[in-house]
Amino acid sequence: MVIHPIERTTTPSAKPVGPVGFGRFFTDHLYLAEHDAQRGWHGDRIVPRHTMPMDLAAGVLHYGLSIFEGMKAHRGVDGKLRIFRPDAHARRFAQSAARLCMPEVDQARFLESIRALVHHDADWYPEAQGGALYIRPLVLATEPFLGVRASSEHLYAVMLSPVASYFAGKDQGGLKLWLEREHTRAAKGGLGSAKTGANYAASLLAARRAQAQGYDQVLWMDANEHRWIEEAGTMNVFVRIGDRVITPPLGGSILAGVTRDSCLTLLRSWGVPVEERPLSIDELAAAESRGELQEIWGTGTAAVMTPVDRLGWENGHIDTKSREMSSRLRVALEDIFAGRATDTRGWMMGVEHETAPSPTPPAPSRGGASASI
Ligand SMILES: *Cc1c(COP(=O)(O)O)cnc(C)c1O
Repeated sequence: MVIHPIERTTTPSAKPVGPVGFGRFFTDHLYLAEHDAQRGWHGDRIVPRHTMPMDLAAGVLHYGLSIFEGMKAHRGVDGKLRIFRPDAHARRFAQSAARLCMPEVDQARFLESIRALVHHDADWYPEAQGGALYIRPLVLATEPFLGVRASSEHLYAVMLSPVASYFAGKDQGGLKLWLEREHTRAAKGGLGSAKTGANYAASLLAARRAQAQGYDQVLWMDANEHRWIEEAGTMNVFVRIGDRVITPPLGGSILAGVTRDSCLTLLRSWGVPVEERPLSIDELAAAESRGELQEIWGTGTAAVMTPVDRLGWENGHIDTKSREMSSRLRVALEDIFAGRATDTRGWMMGVEHETAPSPTPPAPSRGGASASI
């Protein structure tokens, strides 16, 4: 696959100084490609970050025709940058595309695009503790057409954002979740298992109402009975009752998190009893009254592992204080990210990044270099 051109910005932005937060800063370059029926994916290029003219009739702006991914590149103790489980993200991206009648980005293009862009903008890596380069690929429907049908033109874009931890300051304090019994995130048969913009639009009002009551996010219930636990905000959810760890099964309305899968893999390898099965709020409350509810936590790329301190509803709440298993998982994953633990499962993909960034930036190219990678 040829990426042409690879064009370096002539007006680099100042790197953030101080805390970077999450998703507030962007590196200097974008990866772009277009798709249409005649040519398939074409025009792969890395270009200076810019705003983009778009026809206001584009499907993404009217009907939510968009999908995205989110993963991270981490700097290892050897100084090299590696991306966590990009193949799993590529598969999920393809599944999201299929669900929304969008063209799939083939795995080779996906892997090479993120690898090339991270390599290109490696000097944006936030060296602060817990930092990473967050990688955000997306596909948008760009055909100007107001009828409701699959678009015939799409844009693939990848951007990078230097990030600290998502819930900065919440890692130790833990989240407060509001039990959401009215709004739902997704119903079986809907879009819940696709990483698509509409799911997040659907979630905002519930989150706002939870925040108005002093909570951080909501605990989503199933759309049918409002009884079965599904997700925690934009994270998958785990519960430890007695010596068992339970997470709801992927039934179509839950997003199949790569962090969730990684936790299940680690827990099983440690011999911890793990159950992927429906978990009702009644079971949780019963476990709490028996004194067996140990711990609740959320998982996702942005925050990795987020302990939950309180689960609240109209006339009550449950507090959980243990961090035992979520801390153990967080440390194990962070050891893999940083290369302190051996990557026995092939989860980290290198980006062939020079250990020491070159002191003099390469001269801006005129005609644009071409690289075959
Ligand atoms: C992205 C996401 C997750 C977490 O997935 P990871 O692959 O672990 O980052 C969980 N739930 C929702 C709704 C998400 O969008």
